[in-house]
Amino acid sequence: MSQSSGTLFVVATPIGHREDISARALDTLRSVDLIAAEDTRNSGQLMQHYGIRTPLTALHEHNERSASATLIQKMQSGSSVALVSDAGTPAISDPGALLVEEAMAAGIRVVPIPGPSALTTLLSVSGFSARHFFFYGFLPVKAGARARELEGLKGLQATLVFYEAPHRIQDCLAALAEVLGGERRVVIGRELTKLFETVHKTTLAGALPWIEADPNRQRGEFVLAVEGASQPADTDPSRYDALLLALLEKLSLGDAVRIAMQVTGTGRKLLYERALQLTQGTRG
Ligand code: SAM
Repeated sequence: MSQSSGTLFVVATPIGHREDISARALDTLRSVDLIAAEDTRNSGQLMQHYGIRTPLTALHEHNERSASATLIQKMQSGSSVALVSDAGTPAISDPGALLVEEAMAAGIRVVPIPGPSALTTLLSVSGFSARHFFFYGFLPVKAGARARELEGLKGLQATLVFYEAPHRIQDCLAALAEVLGGERRVVIGRELTKLFETVHKTTLAGALPWIEADPNRQRGEFVLAVEGASQPADTDPSRYDALLLALLEKLSLGDAVRIAMQVTGTGRKLLYERALQLTQGTRG
């Protein structure tokens, strides 16, 4: 038996440009016994392009449970399986999580073969901090539910990432502006890695007029990155007294302020003025 027998490989495939697939992904797809694909016709075209003749079987949201059970039996008998979705990374707003969960529970080795995802593709060119980001995926279709979800995200100090279908992109942008406020910036990623790739940065107030100015801008696949909420103003100077006093016992004023800035993420001015007050014994 080969080293990969009884293994489930979760393989990322391109989100548009066919060459965005790793050498390891191609090797894996070539060498497994079976490829479980969200849409066998769609993945069949990719396999044909790369001359891969591995048999394909369907695993999509409507048959995930029964298809997973069959695949687990096959892997338990020694077959190796690669899971792919229509585009990007399986299980990211796509089927796959159930198969992975059940494979793990059955003691089957699960191996990720990483690659593209629309989420990371847009974040990498958004210019927004992705130190923290919140991937929401698709917002609810109904206006009320969508607004409630957005209310829940409004205070997050993290870049927000959404997927959206072309026929809902205008409603989605209108709701984002209404609930999160027009001043926040957004990066609209359309048809990433494809012929009509567009990356447009604007404010939420400017997003709908931009997309409505040209019907071509409303076509294709969309991913949106919205700037996170700004930090609440840190105006209480006594908040860091304990830290500053401990640092000032051992360090110069400048060093104490520098370390307090690193620890708290607070601005220099506020910390410096407070440290000065503390050293002069004018605590108020
Ligand atoms: N698993 C995929 C991934 O890793 O990104 C996502 C699958 S989800 C069903 C499909 C959605 O991803 C599309 O409706 C769109 O919002 C986004 N998407 C996929 N490919 C894209 C592309 N090339 N450009 C922009 N958005 C894309």
